[in-house]
Formats: sequence, C-alpha cells, structure tokens
Amino acid sequence: MDWKNLLTKTPYLVLFIVLISIGIDQDIFAQSEIVIEGRFNVLEIIYENKTISYEYFISTQEEDKIKYTILDFEKTVSYLHELAGKYVRVTAHQKPDSLAPASISNLEKLEVISIIPLKDDKKNLTEEIAAAEMAPASLNSATLLNKFFNDTTEPHTKTYFENRFYSDPDSLAAYWADVSYDQFIFTGSVNGWLELPKTKSEYGVGGFSFHESVMKDIIPLHDPFVDFTNVELLLLVYNDHMPCGCAMATFFSQPVLTEEGVKDLLILHLPDTGDGFAVGLLSQNGIGTPAHEVGHTLGLFHNALPPPSTGFN
Ligand SMILES: [Zn+2]
Repeated sequence: MDWKNLLTKTPYLVLFIVLISIGIDQDIFAQSEIVIEGRFNVLEIIYENKTISYEYFISTQEEDKIKYTILDFEKTVSYLHELAGKYVRVTAHQKPDSLAPASISNLEKLEVISIIPLKDDKKNLTEEIAAAEMAPASLNSATLLNKFFNDTTEPHTKTYFENRFYSDPDSLAAYWADVSYDQFIFTGSVNGWLELPKTKSEYGVGGFSFHESVMKDIIPLHDPFVDFTNVELLLLVYNDHMPCGCAMATFFSQPVLTEEGVKDLLILHLPDTGDGFAVGLLSQNGIGTPAHEVGHTLGLFHNALPPPSTGFN
C-alpha cells in the first residue's frame, strides 16, 4: 500500500464526505420547510379554575375563501402577543402527528421555526382613544346566544344580557365608559337563544379547534337576524360550560364570512353556567371575564404582577 499517497488524499476524502452530508441535510430541510404569510392572532383560553393558556394561528384570505393555520411554538414568548394583528411570514415544519377533529377540514398545524412581522394594519384602539380629542373611540358588538343541540336550557334571558352588557348603570358598557373617562364607548345588541346543529361534545374539547368549528355554525345561524355591517366584536354565549371548561377570546380580529361580506371580527366565547363563571352575577357581576377580554382587544396586556395565571389582572 502506498501510505504516502493515501495520506495526501485523506483530506479530500473527508471534504467529499462532509459535502455529501451537507447536501443531504439541505435536501431534507428544503422538503419539509414551509413558508406561509398571513395575519397572526392569539387565542386566550381562560379555564374555570382561572389558569390561562394560549393558542396561536394565522389567517390567510384568497378572494372570499379564508384559511386558518394553527401555529405551534416550543415555549410561550410574551413578544408573540404583541404580534397579534400583524401580517407575518412564518417559516415552519408540518406537524404530521397533529390530527384535527373530524368536524374540521383543512385545518393545518405547523411547528414554527421563525416568525417575522411584515406589516402592521392593526386597529390600535388605545392610540385612537389617546388621539380622540373631538370624538371618543368606539367598539360596536353583537351578543349571540347559543344553545348546544338537544339542550333546551336558557340560563339567563336575552334581557339579562341586554342589561348586564349594555344598559345597566354597572354594565360592561358602563365599566368601559367609566375607566376611559368616556373616551371609549362600548355599544351593542343581543340576538336571542338559537339552537346549534351540534351537541356540545361534537364541537370537541380543543381551544382553536372548538373556536373554528363552532364559528362555522354560529354565523349562518344568526345571520338572518343580525346585520353584521357595523359589528366589530362578537360575544358568543353558550347555554352550558364549554367543552374545554373555559372561556376564550381572540387578541385581534379575524376575517369571517357573513351575508354582509367578509367582516373583521373580534371574538369572545363565554359559557353561561347560571350564577357563576363567566357571565353569572356571582362571577364579578357577570362582566369580569368579558371586560378582561375586551381589554385585550384594545391592545392591553396583563400586568406583570400578579402573574397572569393567578386571575383577572
Ligand atoms: Zn388575558
């Protein structure tokens, strides 16, 4: 064997092997990497034991078709919440093991590698309020009351919600007028109890998956009775605990298809369980959780203390 010859060639052999392995790595990377652009949103989930978790999604819109994609992050970063409402470019891997409930079609789940903000068209209500020297900022809402299929209970009446959310001296609307020195006007109306086409369990225990599947039924159900033209926020009330044992809210509006066209809507999901959480009088006069979530839609975040998981801060 010509040892001298082999030794001089070894570095080339090593380099060759390294180049091949880099090439293979890049091939695998390129095949599984997805780049998607859309509007980033945060779904806050408040459990009945007052702990909080988050799910993230982006919405992409092509003509009158809207697609939602769930984003998975290894850990929660507070900065993510500030991205709510911004258009972002997401580089991600497909999650092959993520199975959406059967009721949800085309709901993709991605594992995020990087997320970059592209532009910000967020309606910043706190800035509007600060700039409102002549006219106060306002937010118009619609409260839609929903009975799960085959469940006839109506824990509170339509009038109760009209009073607690909009017209009582200590209503949700009065709270926001009070704390904003009349610079933020919260308005709205209530559409009475209507029966959903599915039972509670058929909507699944998930956060975003429940949100997405129930929205598909609620809008067509109430659309004949509600003009969504000037609606900016939906308070969706259910006649029982939600399957997740929680209430939920989006941090920013999402495009929703209605008879009045595609509307950007902020969405709150609120269980009506009778006296207690989330809209009963024994649960902070029935307005604590709705007020907290409306605060997020104004661009307000949790206080540092006490930690977000310990209650309504
Ligand atoms: Zn919150």
